[in-house]
Amino acid sequence: MAVIALEKRASRLARRGHPWLYRDDLKETAVADGSLVRVHDSDGRDLGLACASARSRVALRLCGPWPGDEAPPPAEFLAERLDVAIAGRAWAGPTEGVRLVHGEADLLPGLVVDRYADVIVLQTSTALMENNIELIGALLGERFSTRMILARNDISVRRHENLPEQVRLLTGEPVDEVLIEEQGVRYTVRPYEGHKTGFYLDQRPARQRIRSFCQGVRVLDLFSYQGGFTLAALAAGASKVTAVDQSAGVLERAIKDARAQGFDEPETITGNVFDVVRDLRGQGESYDLVILDPPAFCKSRREIEGGKRGYRDLNRIAMRLLTEGGRLVTCSCSHHLSGPLFEEVLRQAALDLPYRIVIEERLGAGADHPALLRLPESEYLKVRILRRWD
Ligand code: SAH
Repeated sequence: MAVIALEKRASRLARRGHPWLYRDDLKETAVADGSLVRVHDSDGRDLGLACASARSRVALRLCGPWPGDEAPPPAEFLAERLDVAIAGRAWAGPTEGVRLVHGEADLLPGLVVDRYADVIVLQTSTALMENNIELIGALLGERFSTRMILARNDISVRRHENLPEQVRLLTGEPVDEVLIEEQGVRYTVRPYEGHKTGFYLDQRPARQRIRSFCQGVRVLDLFSYQGGFTLAALAAGASKVTAVDQSAGVLERAIKDARAQGFDEPETITGNVFDVVRDLRGQGESYDLVILDPPAFCKSRREIEGGKRGYRDLNRIAMRLLTEGGRLVTCSCSHHLSGPLFEEVLRQAALDLPYRIVIEERLGAGADHPALLRLPESEYLKVRILRRWD
């Protein structure tokens, strides 16, 4: 039986609930790469299961209790955890996009599974999940009727486990485009080419929220990508939407999706947002709603200072582009920038403004992206709705 007994220090860490145990925290680290093991603390108390990695600095990732005193076969473990995760997302309709598995929080460390109607895209970033990728594909295939199950494993986190970056078709035929529907808006998702697994599912709450204040207003969608927010704003009756991104290709896709459902065409600006906002300000433009959803500027601890500067500069100009009573929906998806730190940056951005800015609402990723309370970094997406009050 594979039982790992933790030393005192590691036991203390594990009991506090942080799900990761680093190699240095363990005395005995000779566990089979990618195996499921049972973990005991230094007093012999059961801490449930963990998945082991021989290559990553994180040697064990705790993955919840399990009856008995053995580690189950992976098939049994994966089937049970998948069923619980899927049952927790029963609210999502069949044509909707939904994250079915969100790693640690679903007690499936290193596994992400997104469903886009009848297409499933997954990512594996730990040895256990990688070793069992075919099995995971088969278990999902038994639970959903799908045209395709794709592994979008072209992600850099896999390097920590020495896994190659690759895209692999697990079952079905290649599907380049699939339509999903969210609150009556149709989005084209591209499983092979799109960012992440094809779409920013995590911004669902903010996309829904902005709809209540879009009627008849002018909207600026910065870092628009394929128009997640742009299409939601058009659907909700915005009088004009301007989408800005450095990639002409993604803007064309936003226009195509808008046309396909009879919305007004968004105006698009291809360029560097840092320059574009300065130009817009120079031209005296203003907007009732500005959405600022940049890529992560702090990808590591080392990048925190530079990243904060980027957020501050952009938010400073964005706040100055607001009309009276206008709103700024500002986001950060940097794991390394906590909510309070992000708000500190926003406070600095608002220095010297001749009007009040209030925080109207705080949002984050949707319910299908739960964050583990004991793993604060897992709450990566911060969305703040700010409002200008004169
Ligand atoms: N808001 C989008 C997701 C944004 S992803 C949604 O909800 O779907 C980030 C986008 O920013 C990408 O499309 C990328 O092309 C763009 N981008 C990154 N850096 C940029 C820059 N400096 N100027 C303009 N666009 C940029």
